[in-house]
Amino acid sequence: MNPESIRNFCIIAHIDHGKSTLADRLLELTNTVEKRDMKSQLLDQMDLEREKGITIKLQPVRMEHKDHQLNLIDTPGHVDFAYEVSRSLEACEGALLVVDASQGIQAQTLANVYLAIEAGLEIIPVLNKIDLPASDVPKVSKEVINLLGCKEEDILMVSAKTGEGVNAVLDAIIERVPAPVSDREVARALIFDSVYDDYRGVVLYVRMVDGILKHMQNIHMMATGADGQIRELGHLSPQQVKDDELNPGEIGYIVTDFKSVAEARVGDTVTSHVDGAKESLAGYKEVLPFVYAGIFPAQADDYNKLKGSLDKLALNDAAMVYEPENSQVLGFGFRVGFLGLLHMDIVKERIQRNYDIEIIITNPSTQYEVKQSNGEELVIHSAAELPDAASIELIREPWIKGEVVVPKTYVGGVVQLVSGLRGIQKNIDYIDDQLAVVEFEAPLANMLTNFYDDLKSITSGYGSFNYELDDYREEDLVRVDFYVAGDMINSLSVIVHRSESEALGRSIVKKLKDVIPRQNFQVALQAAIGGRFIARENLSAFRKDVTTGLYGGDVTRKKKVLEKQKKGKARMKKFGKVEIPPDAFTVMLKRDD
Ligand code: GDP
Ligand code: MG
Repeated sequence: MNPESIRNFCIIAHIDHGKSTLADRLLELTNTVEKRDMKSQLLDQMDLEREKGITIKLQPVRMEHKDHQLNLIDTPGHVDFAYEVSRSLEACEGALLVVDASQGIQAQTLANVYLAIEAGLEIIPVLNKIDLPASDVPKVSKEVINLLGCKEEDILMVSAKTGEGVNAVLDAIIERVPAPVSDREVARALIFDSVYDDYRGVVLYVRMVDGILKHMQNIHMMATGADGQIRELGHLSPQQVKDDELNPGEIGYIVTDFKSVAEARVGDTVTSHVDGAKESLAGYKEVLPFVYAGIFPAQADDYNKLKGSLDKLALNDAAMVYEPENSQVLGFGFRVGFLGLLHMDIVKERIQRNYDIEIIITNPSTQYEVKQSNGEELVIHSAAELPDAASIELIREPWIKGEVVVPKTYVGGVVQLVSGLRGIQKNIDYIDDQLAVVEFEAPLANMLTNFYDDLKSITSGYGSFNYELDDYREEDLVRVDFYVAGDMINSLSVIVHRSESEALGRSIVKKLKDVIPRQNFQVALQAAIGGRFIARENLSAFRKDVTTGLYGGDVTRKKKVLEKQKKGKARMKKFGKVEIPPDAFTVMLKRDD
């Protein structure tokens, strides 16, 4: 297709504002997907995405409208997956900014707008959900005008649910999004995603910037230096449709003969093997995980299965890293790095579901930098790795730059919440006379547990939150250890600021008391810093007979209950004399009651 007739755009929005639903309508109106094949949030192809109703992976699709080729990339809305958004933006010339007319501008709306502006994209604002009685078009229009500096008539009003106004979106894409421009002959394609397919091997999603790539052509990866061959190429509709070549400006897929996604990294430039390009495309900055947790098989003999599943997942998830970890209670497992708690949850569910392994996951930890008295520097990912206090000169922890978007009446509450977590309020901006943006800095560790829930409750659900990693700062940090019946369980240890250590120790000991079943002797649950006890609860003795509640002669029921208990026991980790259930290891994430 002639580049002048191509439009590449992505859909960006705060989570739940209706990106995927709008994409459905666009696919329908352009007859890309037959009505009978239509299911809602069609581009959310993973089971997990459909069940949770969220988009986790970016997803490209090609449509035809009025003799134009429209290439759309649907992007995730959650902050953990901001990396997917920034990659999609680089492959496009325009962005549909979807704003829920009943919610208005929220934190990821802002974050995405900044990313789109940085990438130099034409932004088309779309107010969605105008069918909802709770929608407030004049108010939200004003917010959008203030944010983008656009005119009122630039804003499209739609209901992705009913389809109202969606035709105008297609026309606006053709009219307003610039066509791709290319002035070189030599092939250069930007890899904006890659997936590993069990049957086809490594499949690249690319944006052709210059030149042409053809079926069976030999190719060269400019950053990794890997050479390979195009086994098939084409576009996504959204299933793969084979073509003979990819032309300048087009978005499509390339099936390669690479054995691992490491050979063709996201951000790399694909060029021809013979007479290839000299200058690569800009690419992306690498993302590094900053939330870590231990993942252990509930049954020790599942270790190899767990390793296999992590190897597989890593092929499709460049942001996840892992290394072996050994715990005295949980045995052999892995320390796994994530982009945030949602990412962690998703990896956990994928392992359990796709690979049918029961796992135990530990309290999340951030990454810490430790300088020892002998001058040596360490980077650690769990409290258990922290060296002896006497040999530590200083510890640095990661801080974030955060942004809360909230109606101005809640600003006081938000500032209080943030400072209660050792955060520092930086700046308060106003999008208009109602809507404020509170900018702050805070230690990442304190954002991991209840921050999001607390924010929602303090702001009656109106507050939204976005953040990025800032830097590592020296703080007075200590390790809090936990003892069960006198034995220290190192998988439970956490690193925390000294000023927060006693409160945290007390709260975790209380929570442990709730999740560890009573034993037939009294069990002391204690928290300590450097061997000095700071909190204690006693779990009183009790011989649990789960069948006492069952009267009379219902023997089968009794047997069933006992069997269930036995199964539950198999999953418990015996330490010393005490059985510790899997929940105990993520007790930190349990809400305070
Ligand atoms: P995404 O997270 O931005 O992809 O949002 P989704 O497309 O998954 O939509 C989030 C929720 O809003 C879903 O329950 C949709 O059915 C609903 N939704 C999306 N668009 C509209 C709309 O125009 N009107 C109404 N009433 N609901 C909508
Ligand atoms: Mg979605």
